[in-house]
Amino acid sequence: MNNERINRLQEAMARAGIGHAFIANGPDMFYLIGYATLPLERITALSIPAEGDAVLFVPRLEAPRVPEGTVEVVPWDELDDPIAMMAERCRGEDTLAIGDHMWSVFLIRLLEKVGSPRLIPASEVTRKLREVKDETEIDALRRAAAGVDRVLARIPREVRFAGRTEKEVAADITRMILEEGHDEAGFAIVASGPNSASPHHEPGDRVIQPGDAVVCDFGGSVDGYFSDVTRTFSVGEPSAKLVEVHSVVHAAGTAARDAVRPGVACQDIDRVARRIIEDAGYGEWFIHRTGHGIGVEVHEHPYIVEGNDAPLARGNAFSVEPGIYLPGELGVRIEDIVVCGEDGPDTLNQATRDLMVVE
Ligand code: ZN
Ligand code: ZN
Ligand code: ZN
Repeated sequence: MNNERINRLQEAMARAGIGHAFIANGPDMFYLIGYATLPLERITALSIPAEGDAVLFVPRLEAPRVPEGTVEVVPWDELDDPIAMMAERCRGEDTLAIGDHMWSVFLIRLLEKVGSPRLIPASEVTRKLREVKDETEIDALRRAAAGVDRVLARIPREVRFAGRTEKEVAADITRMILEEGHDEAGFAIVASGPNSASPHHEPGDRVIQPGDAVVCDFGGSVDGYFSDVTRTFSVGEPSAKLVEVHSVVHAAGTAARDAVRPGVACQDIDRVARRIIEDAGYGEWFIHRTGHGIGVEVHEHPYIVEGNDAPLARGNAFSVEPGIYLPGELGVRIEDIVVCGEDGPDTLNQATRDLMVVE
């Protein structure tokens, strides 16, 4: 069965000296054959030799879930030993690539049967494929971004903040993510007042107050591809401090997105954003990288971070999300998904980046 993505993976494996790859669970499996496994104790594993036919070992009761036409399916029965079937496929190979999301219990059982081959995380070969999105993938990312943009447009009109808990606001956002066409609502961070200074705050029982800054960071998936967007709201009229910090973050994000084009190093996008925040005197409060790749995972390669000197390529999709976090006081983050186009940025999110006042 011909599968273009598997073919390209096999070419990469051959170049890297990898004899066989096992992918169980997770985004690599979805990327290669469009199948989202059930992450249960019965293993589902793609078995991919550097040369020859790939097969999917799947529990017989789950075989009907596998999309047709992307790989040869080998169902295993309750009394079979799927790990032995896998071991048989890679006999004699001295280098194996193991999917990043394969449970350690499956790997341990496999190693009991095949000895001690050299092991490589499969992401070392799959990331090169997944980093460059094709038109179908960009289209899915664009539809996902448009969905959360519509949620952002509804928030000031429909969501009351003051007097309600972060959890209640997060529940509203989660509902709207689904209403606006997502298949799954992945996450919704609502971080209010002093909590807004915690970038990955878990929405809690804090009651939102007039005068709060509220960071809302949310997304989900459309056809398996993720959205991820952040805007910062002001409950009632913003303080002078919030207006100032917001304008610095806004400028950093704009400059970083404008700098996107093929050949620019990932770390240079980070530096553009960081320089603006440092020059404004907030450098020590920009405590995370500028962005992350996005696709069939919310966070994937390429990472927009100091130390990553890999050049951007056409089709890379990633977030640009500078932030400033003043402990105990307030935080601001603005996040957009950008695709590196042929000669500049293709920003998927179009929702306003102005500081929006909510009630
Ligand atoms: Zn994050
Ligand atoms: Zn986010
Ligand atoms: Zn993000």
